[in-house]
Amino acid sequence: MKLIKITSLVFFAAIVFIACNNNKENVAEKKDSAAMQSSKTDSIKYTVLMVDNAKDPTCGMPVGAGIEDTLHYNNKSIGFCSKECKEDFVKNAPKSFAAVEWKK
Ligand SMILES: [Zn+2]
Repeated sequence: MKLIKITSLVFFAAIVFIACNNNKENVAEKKDSAAMQSSKTDSIKYTVLMVDNAKDPTCGMPVGAGIEDTLHYNNKSIGFCSKECKEDFVKNAPKSFAAVEWKK
């Protein structure tokens, strides 16, 4: 019985700790977003979850490294590391599309 009490106490302490930490993070984030609002919205423009490809089809960089631009083509969302890579893809779209490495 004692062990159960201790376990639940630790669990409760952990929840309080997490809740306090979350509050601190929120305050810090609010300060951050006020200070550099523009750069923040730029950096979280596209996420890996928003695209269907695993790698930038032009340069071969994994989309996890950062997505600067996306393209909708043949009902697929394709992420690119840069606008230049997207432009190169568009120039030769049908052939480039066939070579895209999709997520598994
Ligand atoms: Zn690229």
